[in-house]
Amino acid sequence: MQRICLFPGSFDPITLGHADIVRRGVQLFDKLIIGVGTNSSKQPMYAPELRISWIKDIFSDDPRIEVQSYAGLTIDYCKQMGAQYILRGIRSVGDFEYERAIADMNRALAPDIETIFLTSSPIYSTVSSTLVRDIVKHGGDVAQFLPGAVKWKQ
Ligand code: ADP
Repeated sequence: MQRICLFPGSFDPITLGHADIVRRGVQLFDKLIIGVGTNSSKQPMYAPELRISWIKDIFSDDPRIEVQSYAGLTIDYCKQMGAQYILRGIRSVGDFEYERAIADMNRALAPDIETIFLTSSPIYSTVSSTLVRDIVKHGGDVAQFLPGAVKWKQ
C-alpha cells in the first residue's frame, strides 16, 4: 500500500522552514500532499490560489509532492485523499504543546491516522509566516526567509 501523507497548514506564505520540512518529510512517504487550509479563522494575507501557485513552483521538480487546497476537518480530508499520515513541523516547546493537542484530538477522531512530527532545522527554527507577514506589512525585505519561487505582490 502506498504511504500517503498530508502536510496541512496555512502556508501564508510558505517559508524556507516549511520547504525544509517538505523536502525532509517526503523521503519518508510515497506521496506527500501539501494541503493549503482555506477555512482557518485567521484572515489570510495571500489568496489561496497564490499560495498554491508558489508551492507548485517550488516543488515542480518532485513528482511525489502535490499541492491542494482543502476546507473542513483535516482528518476528513486525509480520508478523502487516502492519507494515513499527517506531517507537522515543530520549532519550539510552544509549537510542541500546540501540535500535540491537535495530534491528540485528531487521533481521538481518527485512530488510524498517525501524526508524524519533524523538528525544524536549527537555521529555520525562528522563521514563521506570521513574522514574515508582519515584516511585509511594514515594508521590510523578507527574501532571506522565503523560497526563491515566492514572488511578492507589491
Ligand atoms: P497552521 O496555520 O496550521 O499552523 P502554518 O502554515 O503556520 O499552518 O504551519 C504549518 C506547519 O508547519 C505547522 O506544523 C508549523 O509548526 C510548521 N512550521 C511553520 N514554520 C516552520 C519552520 N520554520 N520550521 C519547521 N516547521 C514549521
